[in-house]
Amino acid sequence: VKRTAVALLFLASCGSVDRPGHAGAPCPVCSVVPAPSPQVTSVPSVQATAPSPVARSIVVGPITFRTSVARVAQVFYIVDQLSEWSAWCHPQYKRWAEGRRLLGDEERALLADHKGLRSTGYGALDQAFYTDLDLDTAVARARDSHLMADAQLDTEHKVLAHFDRVLDPLLAEQRGTVLAFRDRMEVEAPQVGRVVSDLAAFAGVYVAQTLPLYLISNTDPRGGGGGYNGGFMEVEAGQYSMQTLIHESFHLVLSHRQKEIANAAQRCGAGLDEEALHEGIAYALSPGILHDEDPGQDALQRLVDDDRRRAPPATNDYVRDHRFGLALRPELESGLSRKGTLAAFLGGVCVTGKALQKEPWP
Ligand SMILES: [Zn+2]
Repeated sequence: VKRTAVALLFLASCGSVDRPGHAGAPCPVCSVVPAPSPQVTSVPSVQATAPSPVARSIVVGPITFRTSVARVAQVFYIVDQLSEWSAWCHPQYKRWAEGRRLLGDEERALLADHKGLRSTGYGALDQAFYTDLDLDTAVARARDSHLMADAQLDTEHKVLAHFDRVLDPLLAEQRGTVLAFRDRMEVEAPQVGRVVSDLAAFAGVYVAQTLPLYLISNTDPRGGGGGYNGGFMEVEAGQYSMQTLIHESFHLVLSHRQKEIANAAQRCGAGLDEEALHEGIAYALSPGILHDEDPGQDALQRLVDDDRRRAPPATNDYVRDHRFGLALRPELESGLSRKGTLAAFLGGVCVTGKALQKEPWP
């Protein structure tokens, strides 16, 4: 079934509207670590002077995505996942590479080098390699900008040059899918944008920003994920790309109220922390309220049902986020439809969180 923009459900006033779901497919994975960075709100200056033929601006409500399908950025992103430097790395890339016996001793050593460079988290590496430039030019630019030590830059240069060859067939094979997602994004942007604008109004924030968005080749068309870290957003092209983009866009708006969200979590205590609350709200919004699945189903309820069947502990991050999102959804939906405020909504999250902790699991 070809899904189009009409399949997107718009909520707020829609307590009675059926929510979409999906049949046995994996959920979009969120890799926000541990919470989006609110301070980086524009394209880093390193890139600002480098207009590129591969970038295209797509306006989604208050956010303008500078959307790129760039080779270096894709290789960097996939190497990042393969290196497993963080618990949030998406495992489908590793499974794929191992299944094709692409990771020998040399590759593993290079991934270990990358992981070592990542020990300081997000920052210079992202600024250097989320770029539309070719690899040699990107390295030269990073060197001129003193983004990191020369030796570190040389190491990453070697890693990315090697994996550029390893990943070449994947990038070639997936290019059509990635470009098709960008076209779809352009078509659906006005509708998604209205909901993002609604959330911005609800949160009482003025969001007017340009954000670099890198579209990434995926190894599992049924999977998908993305991230928003250090001022860059990435979305893996696949069946759930639109859902991921919507979820991450909500994170971006909510990041402007990070302090209020943190305060609400802290006031509550009782195991509710800032990240859990931020994710709970984001999941309540998407896929809880807005998603791109078939009408008549409930995507978030389905995630919780799947979790219950698989029965990981209640402390598992995804279980926590899905369940909390589902529990928060009615209040959030009601707040949005009444044109309430995020501040008022946050006043009630503690009661919801505590009630959820008392529920038996699985
Ligand atoms: Zn998230």
